[in-house]
Amino acid sequence: MNGPRDRTAIVTGGAGGIGFGVARRLAADGFAVALLDLDEGAGKRAAAEIEQSGGRAVAVGIDVTDEQAVQTAVELVAEQLGAPAVLVNNAGVTRDNLLFKMSLDDWDTVMDVHLRGSFLMSRACQRYMTAAGWGRIVNISSTAALGNRGQVNYSAAKAGLQGFTKTLAIELGKFGVTANAIAPGFIVTEMTRRTAERMGIPFEDFVKGAAEHTPVARVGQPADIAHLVSFLVSDGAGFVSGQVIYAAGGPVC
Ligand code: NAP
Repeated sequence: MNGPRDRTAIVTGGAGGIGFGVARRLAADGFAVALLDLDEGAGKRAAAEIEQSGGRAVAVGIDVTDEQAVQTAVELVAEQLGAPAVLVNNAGVTRDNLLFKMSLDDWDTVMDVHLRGSFLMSRACQRYMTAAGWGRIVNISSTAALGNRGQVNYSAAKAGLQGFTKTLAIELGKFGVTANAIAPGFIVTEMTRRTAERMGIPFEDFVKGAAEHTPVARVGQPADIAHLVSFLVSDGAGFVSGQVIYAAGGPVC
């Protein structure tokens, strides 16, 4: 039977933040890992760090919204590391603003990276997974899917990802492929740092405020999300599909 040691995982946005945490964890679990990120230099540094810890990793610089680049990158990964068995759609951006001030560009950018990117990546990877009769797709949604002031674009995209996930699960289940979404709460990354900066709040105060509103009395780290991804892509999780798991240190509403 195949195990992580014979399998390849692709993580988009894998050069930093949650994506790097996930890539590092999957490499430690035994997967060969491909980090697909806009910033090829950062991706290569992240891949080198994984290799120094004994993992197998490559970095490919791509924009996940570019159809041809996605196709070429997935084929390259299949050649260099082996057919992708796991896909984590993690690449993401925010372009926050209140509705009346939000530009069409900011709406389109957020839709494109989260939805078009996840669609293109999933479409390119599914043919390897269905041919192998085994695959795992994990989409990174957000608690913002439930609504968040100033994020009408982001919350719509993250809610859209949840519907996308459920439909992937319905279409691909009979081929041994599961699809699930993780909806993180506050995770310490460059994304949350940039949000604090934009709001003019020192990052330490921003983190402290978020922790005070979280039942486990702390904010999340990339490793918290990586742990859940590790479970969802394991062999034993084959009966868990089409789910949205909120990883937010408490219940969300
Ligand atoms: P991050 O540190 O900003 O990392 C996002 C990564 O995605 C970056 O490496 C970025 O590259 C890459 N990326 C952006 N657009 C891309 C594109 N078009 N093609 C390829 N790569 C692209 O953010 P994060 O906090 O780790 O977020 C990871 C995911 O978790 C996102 O989907 C985010 O929406 C979600 N999330 C985060 C939180 C949180 O609190 N941090 C909470 C809920 C959900 P560059 O750096 O080169 O732009």
